Amino acid sequence: MGLKAYLNDIVEAVVTTAKGMRITARYGVDPKEEVTLQYPEERWEIPKGYRGFLHNDIKTCTACNMCVKVCPIDCISLESVRGADKKMVLCSYDINIGRCMYCGLCVEVCPVNSLLHTSGYEMASVALGELILHFIAAEDAPEIKARVARQVAEAAVKAAAQAAAKAAEVPSSGTAEAAKVAEAAKAEAAKAPVVEPKAAMEEAPQAPVSEPTVAKEGEKKE
Ligand code: SF4
Ligand code: SF4
Repeated sequence: MGLKAYLNDIVEAVVTTAKGMRITARYGVDPKEEVTLQYPEERWEIPKGYRGFLHNDIKTCTACNMCVKVCPIDCISLESVRGADKKMVLCSYDINIGRCMYCGLCVEVCPVNSLLHTSGYEMASVALGELILHFIAAEDAPEIKARVARQVAEAAVKAAAQAAAKAAEVPSSGTAEAAKVAEAAKAEAAKAPVVEPKAAMEEAPQAPVSEPTVAKEGEKKE
């Protein structure tokens, strides 16, 4: 290396150092140039469309099971029973946000838009089981099932009474037909208290809230 090149290197080193120090000094003294966010007192504004924690409005959810089927990694589980009006009634709905990869497929397929991404992203735990959101408390499930079974039984009894009344209106010439209708009504009444639990959850959730909550420690570990 010649003397000229050597001196050029020294000059270049001094100039680049000065440039860097000028930028450092500007960020150090000018408050407008601050880039550090004082988290958690300050937070970035969440952009529109951000896919944060999931929330299910269980009053709107129809328990159609589509979100459960579409999830590629089985984060969602639900249990439902068929109601008196033949519609499914939710008994439990859980989302494992520790496993969720926030792909948004479940939100896309939800036909009633009850399942949505929120802007939430902060949750820490020492047990993975605590990252399961329970949208219906575990202790509420038996009560819901019992209520639905009662409604189904009442509807069946009502239908049987209507069928029997109809049978009584049949003219005497059709005695055999009337007996048939009465028999059918009886059979319907006998079937009344049957419900159809549709288990999609291997393990019952434990958190005691109707809003999404986290499971108690040690309830479900992976
Ligand atoms: S966002 Fe994706 S991974 Fe998470 S629950 Fe929905 S479908 Fe499953
Ligand atoms: S897809 Fe929507 S309506 Fe169907 S079970 Fe899931 S959250 Fe409920």
